[in-house]
Amino acid sequence: MNHTIADNLEKIRAAINVASADSLLSKQRVALIAVSKVQPDEKIDAALKAGQRVFGENRVQEAYTHWETRRANYPDVELHLIGPLQTNKAKEAIGLFDVIQTLDREKLANRLAVLYGESTRKPALYVQMNVGQEPQKAGIAPAEAAEFVRWAREDKQLPVTGLMCIPPADADPAPHFAWLAQQQQRLGLAHLSMGMSADYEVAICFGATHVRVGTAVFGGRGL
Ligand SMILES: *Cc1c(COP(=O)(O)O)cnc(C)c1O
Repeated sequence: MNHTIADNLEKIRAAINVASADSLLSKQRVALIAVSKVQPDEKIDAALKAGQRVFGENRVQEAYTHWETRRANYPDVELHLIGPLQTNKAKEAIGLFDVIQTLDREKLANRLAVLYGESTRKPALYVQMNVGQEPQKAGIAPAEAAEFVRWAREDKQLPVTGLMCIPPADADPAPHFAWLAQQQQRLGLAHLSMGMSADYEVAICFGATHVRVGTAVFGGRGL
């Protein structure tokens, strides 16, 4: 199994290189975020052993279980929060993550602004956009994108450096990736987190700087 994860990582890294070499929009190295949520310890250790250092988790509590000790052993690990953040978990999230990709509402921005004022750790923030305008999904509405980012950066002094999206499950993701890339350019943000196991190559074609890949690295989550 350890062997499989090293192989998977190698294949995905090769596919990322091909996609970014082919893309007219991909101007920089694309970071592979290995999404380790719900994966057993042995698989996470195999990925570390294979040289993977950037990981994504979608729950704060689980991330501590996976990473509090491992982090001490691998100080160059970079952790991204890619799941919804409750305001009462924000302080814990700041204590562990390097990037919080799910700034998705005003209330959370207000809470983070207070905590960042008191903390020496200030994780970079990506704003999550509800690109498909799905009522059940988190994120800022497309029409409010520019004003929310301006408000968070200027009025709240938050280090917003990127955008993130999860397109609707049953639709072609390409138009959503294209729209998000356009917003990133317009707003002058460095990072663009989009693309998962099924569509990370498409996302790279549209200029993703970070792809979030779970099952293609680790196999199914047994759900
Ligand atoms: C789980 C998850 C991923 C990884 O999905 P896969 O299809 O397993 O690659 C990516 N992004 C987010 C926000 C997730 O929750």
